[in-house]
Amino acid sequence: MNVIRTVTELRAELLEPRRAGRRIGLVPTMGAFHEGHLSLMRRARRDCDVVVVSLFVNPTQFNDAGDLDAYPRDPERDAGLATEIGVDYLFAPPVDEVYPSGFATTVSVAGLTETLEGVHRGRAHFDGVTTVVAKLFNMVSPDVAYFGQKDAQQAVVIRRLVRDLDIPVAIEVCPTVREADGLAMSSRNVHLSPADRTRAAALHRALRAAQDAVTAGERDPGAARERALSELARADIEPEYVELVSADTLAPLHRIAGDVLAVLAAPVGGTRLIDNQPILPPPEAGSNGNRRP
Ligand code: AMP
Repeated sequence: MNVIRTVTELRAELLEPRRAGRRIGLVPTMGAFHEGHLSLMRRARRDCDVVVVSLFVNPTQFNDAGDLDAYPRDPERDAGLATEIGVDYLFAPPVDEVYPSGFATTVSVAGLTETLEGVHRGRAHFDGVTTVVAKLFNMVSPDVAYFGQKDAQQAVVIRRLVRDLDIPVAIEVCPTVREADGLAMSSRNVHLSPADRTRAAALHRALRAAQDAVTAGERDPGAARERALSELARADIEPEYVELVSADTLAPLHRIAGDVLAVLAAPVGGTRLIDNQPILPPPEAGSNGNRRP
């Protein structure tokens, strides 16, 4: 695997494969790899001729300087794991390669970024994400880019970014990889104390409780949400938000119908965690195709 630090070098490396019509896949990451990251890389390895993984802890998407400083970093271990998977290029630029002095441009997606994480982390978070992802797309010009369902709102926002700016890249969103007790893998999980690590499994239980309610026929999002809240309360977790929203638009629902996403964010012992669960409600009675003519 080739570790690359500059955009010039990256473009030079990708010139030939692009000319030869090879399929180039990009996996954007902030490092501290876990099975979630590795699942995206394996998928890219399976689907593409050339796999580029970017490793860049993007300072502009952190709304809290302490969070940026504390963000786990282990570039040598990361390089070893990416090599094992067969990644071709690990693009790990320094901050001034991505944000040279005088950098003054922001790419911003309206609407979708003004709810959920956008409310709780502030507008700058998604502006940081969309700006760096737009830059990575321009640097790599991938045919396809891989993102995790774990960051569901981010995936919806990036699909909109690509559509609105006519960026010629296919977006693949891959399932959330979880620990055995259901906790979604996250680079931030290393900050959890053993006791908080155990409590954190309640996030997934809460999402499952909402899903189970819907599967059992609940159509009131407020009632399904209450089920999730009581699961969190049992673990003494006070969420920042728990919502059932449209999976496409992230808009709040008045009644459960169509593709629904249960989403939540909660601090667990000082570590802020997010998780979500796509929910497909069973068809309404009478709309199951068995209706008489
Ligand atoms: P990050 O390094 O946290 O910015 O994540 C890089 C990519 O990995 C993003 O597309 C995330 O959504 C994805 N990702 C993070 N955690 C998981 C997980 N547990 N399962 C699947 N994908 C994940």
